[in-house]
Amino acid sequence: MILEVSNKGGGTRQSVLVVGTGVVGMATAYALARRGLSVTLVDQASGVGQGASFANGAQLSYAYTDALANPKLLRHMPALALGMDPVFRLKASADPQYIGWLLRFLRNCTRDRALESTLSGLTLGLESRLAMHALLALHPLDFGHKAPGKLHLYKDKQSFAGAATMARLKTAHGAQQHVLGRQEALDIEPALAAYNDDFLGAIFSPEDELGDPHRFCAALLDVLIQSYGVKLRTGVRVAEIRPHATQPMLVSATGEKFYADHVVICAGLGSSRLLRRFGLCDVLMPMKGYSMTAPMGAYAPKTSITDVSRKLVLCPLNGAIRVAGLAELGERDVAPCEDRLALMVESAKTAFPQAAIYDAPASIWAGVRPMTTNSLPIIQKAAPRVTVNIGHGMLGWTYAMGSGERAAKCLLASEN
Ligand SMILES: Cc1cc2nc3c(=O)[nH]c(=O)nc-3n(C[C@H](O)[C@H](O)[C@H](O)COP(=O)(O)OP(=O)(O)OC[C@H]3O[C@@H](n4cnc5c(N)ncnc54)[C@H](O)[C@@H]3O)c2cc1C
Repeated sequence: MILEVSNKGGGTRQSVLVVGTGVVGMATAYALARRGLSVTLVDQASGVGQGASFANGAQLSYAYTDALANPKLLRHMPALALGMDPVFRLKASADPQYIGWLLRFLRNCTRDRALESTLSGLTLGLESRLAMHALLALHPLDFGHKAPGKLHLYKDKQSFAGAATMARLKTAHGAQQHVLGRQEALDIEPALAAYNDDFLGAIFSPEDELGDPHRFCAALLDVLIQSYGVKLRTGVRVAEIRPHATQPMLVSATGEKFYADHVVICAGLGSSRLLRRFGLCDVLMPMKGYSMTAPMGAYAPKTSITDVSRKLVLCPLNGAIRVAGLAELGERDVAPCEDRLALMVESAKTAFPQAAIYDAPASIWAGVRPMTTNSLPIIQKAAPRVTVNIGHGMLGWTYAMGSGERAAKCLLASEN
């Protein structure tokens, strides 16, 4: 079967196939549709937002864009390599692609590169916030969206001092971040009275927000279909992308062919396979993480909280508490592992015993973050009429709306 979504034969609307319906694909579809393009979304899953976007930490961390590759992590590398950090694990593998990615990652751990990546991320984060607000002003989507701000808690002097310096720098670049003492943090988040660990202070990002990414995808889909005529094809695994000067083509695993004037690849980790022919197959690395959603406890936070030393995030979502954490670089198996999940839950329970009713989780989940070596997404042309919007790593929900805008501009700046 051949599906022709091209504008061939009349009309002026350019057609575009967007592969992937995670937060990035949905935001990209919106950016293209509101510019007048005729959009068809294609996904191998049975519905939208089923991949890494499904039950992530829910944080829209517009101001917290710190790159994973940084000098501190470099110093921690020997311990990671020896498997001494249970929260952050490196997969033991001799795969040349994995080693090559790690070496490029290590090269990005210098102070200058970490700063450059963090501030570039901040620019995208701030663009994303504006784009999200513009979307919601036009279409008030229901996805548990709130703007209570975000607190990063620090326990050791050196990390807190470093974070304070970074906060001042980010403030100079347009972000809002405040360095708070312990009591000031408690004033903002009274639930910290039941926090079991000792903390020195916090960085508060009052403009950071939260929302359910899966509900966002579903709500945005309704708007895209009803207001912009966007079409959705689910259950279609794209096996190949054939670039072309005027009409690129997608071929599905079952041989179905799709033509359009443009293709945009937003397939998260699944993009690697599709981008092999464009020389982009080794830019992404999976980093597995977990989440748990549980009923609220007596001291449930009303803000988003990141416990920096425990590498845990908590936030109130849909009337419950979502906890997310753990990092396993190189691990692509999305099946939740009981031991790993128990480690995360135990850590949350120890630090925030009354934030949630941990023994009655409503849901557990594991997903893989599509990491790049500098924590910045890749938004560019891969070939004529083929654009990529991939590699959003730990911050895909945060960056989705701004990335969608950038991808649409990139596509339209190209030949038509
Ligand atoms: C535990 C955890 C916590 C996180 N917390 C946060 C957070 O708090 N804030 C934040 O900003 N980010 C967070 N992230 C990161 C964020 O979830 C990801 O960066 C983001 O979801 C990536 O979105 P995406 O649309 O690129 O990919 P995905 O959501 O994975 O979407 C890709 C889509 O492409 C489809 N696809 C793949 N291959 C094919 C193919 N060949 N044919 C057809 N379809 C295909 C998939 O089915 C999928 O639907 C977290 C991630 C994890 C794992």
